[in-house]
Formats: sequence, structure tokens, C-alpha cells
Amino acid sequence: SEDVTARVQRQDALLAALLSEREAVERLEQADRMKDALVSTVSHELRTPLTSVLGYATMLADGDLGEIPPLVAQTLERIINNGERLRSLVEDLLVLSRVNAGQLDLASEPLDLRDVVRSAYDVVAPQLETRDLEVRVALPDDEALVDGDAGMLERVVLNLLTNALKFTHDGGQVDVSLRLESDEVVIEVSDTGLGIPVDEQDQLFTQFFRSSIAKREAIQGTGLGLSIAHAIVEQHGGVIGATSEPSIGSTFLVVLPRLGVRAQQPA
Ligand code: ADP
Repeated sequence: SEDVTARVQRQDALLAALLSEREAVERLEQADRMKDALVSTVSHELRTPLTSVLGYATMLADGDLGEIPPLVAQTLERIINNGERLRSLVEDLLVLSRVNAGQLDLASEPLDLRDVVRSAYDVVAPQLETRDLEVRVALPDDEALVDGDAGMLERVVLNLLTNALKFTHDGGQVDVSLRLESDEVVIEVSDTGLGIPVDEQDQLFTQFFRSSIAKREAIQGTGLGLSIAHAIVEQHGGVIGATSEPSIGSTFLVVLPRLGVRAQQPA
């Protein structure tokens, strides 16, 4: 009867719609994979020439090829600074493509987080010389042992520290501390900076997020660092979070599982 024909036609239409939707999803997924591969390849290929450019510029700046006039030294410093910025962007893109491909292969060995915090601090120390910022680092006397990837955890701390410095005006204060709990180690980075609008805070750890304050103040950045930090911390079995108030400041917390204190020798 007509009734049956109409029903069959409806079902056919439904099936066709479902199939074309699945095709669309597959095409999108393929495009996504191609984008990841492109990002990964390009950042790999950028690495070598960039290292070479920075190497030669550093050689010149160090006076290895003869003495250089002050104006040239200044120019070289700019080249090197911008080269470093480019390098850190390329490194971020590389890690990001690994995260997105589910291939963030982390080392897993016992390490003392105090060393991680110290080396992150050493990286930013030179730039503090030109800033009027009070930066305090508080480390416990006992070792802060966790299982993980020292280089990647340094990347996390460095990102939090760099952000704190970037989003805090001169005259402000940045505090970095490590705290030992019975089963956890807590890294805290707080600043008296610009803060993050409350209604934007839930996006903090998503890729490419930049707050309206960061955009308004034209503070440079890609919005990649925190999403990478989030992935690294999660893979360590930890959590990362933040509280912030505009014009008051921000506090970022990283909580990592603490490795048992090395067993005492039985008496
Ligand atoms: P980037 O700093 O390169 O933009 P991040 O992923 O590290 O990327 O940070 C994302 C955004 O989160 C920043 O653009 C900024 O809006 C906000 N943010 C992060 N840390 C702070 C901070 N300490 N104070 C204020 N805003 C911050």
C-alpha cells in the first residue's frame, strides 16, 4: 500500500542522511590528522635551521669571530631573543602535536622537584634583571620526590613562572613554592598581576585560549603553554588548577603524587 511505500522512502532518506554524516565525520577526522602531521613536520623541519641561526648569532655575540661594536652587539641580542622566542614556539608546537596524537612519551624516573624549580628559575633569572619585580622561591629542606619526566615538568613550571612574570606589572610580586604533603607534592606559583576574568577561567587549559585581558593589553602569547602543561601534569597522574581575580592576581597549583620517602635503613 501507499503507506508502506512512504515509510520505506522515509527510512531510505534517514539512512542516506546518516551515511553522509558519517562520511563528513570521516573527512573531518582525516583533515584533522593531516593538520597534526603538517604541524609536526613543519616544526621538526624548522628546528635545525633555527638552531643553526641561533648558533651563529651567539658565536658572533660572544666575540668568537672578533670584537664587535656595541651597536652590532645590541642588534645581535635582538636577533637572539627573537630566535629564542621562535624556538620556544616551535617546541610548543612539537609537544602539542605529540599531545594531540596521544604520543606524549614521558620518561619515568625518580626526581627531586626542587631541582626542577631551581632550573626553571635559572632560565628566567636573566630577564628579571631588567624588571622591578620581587620573585621569591620557597623550597622545602626535604627532597620533593616524584616519579616523572624532569624536562617536561620543568616545562610546566617554566610556563607558569613565565606567565606570572608576563602578566604582572613592575612593582608586583611573584611567589614560587613547593610544599610536601603526606602523599603529594604541591607546586604553587602566584602573582599580583592582571588576573583572569572569572567567566573565562574555565577555558584556561584549552588550546589557544587567551584571556580578554591578555588581548586588550596586547601581551604576546599563543595560548598553548597551559594546555601543554595540563597534558603533562595529567600524564604524571597529577592535577593542575588555578584561582584568579582580575587586578588582584592569580595562583596556579600543580599537585603531583609524591614518591615515598626513601626507606630508612632498619636499625
Ligand atoms: P600564552 O601565555 O602563550 O598566551 P598560556 O597557555 O600559557 O599561553 O596561557 C593562556 C592564557 O591564560 C594567557 O594568554 C592569559 O590570558 C591567561 N593566563 C595564564 N597565566 C596567567 C597569569 N599568571 N595571569 C593572568 N593571566 C594568565
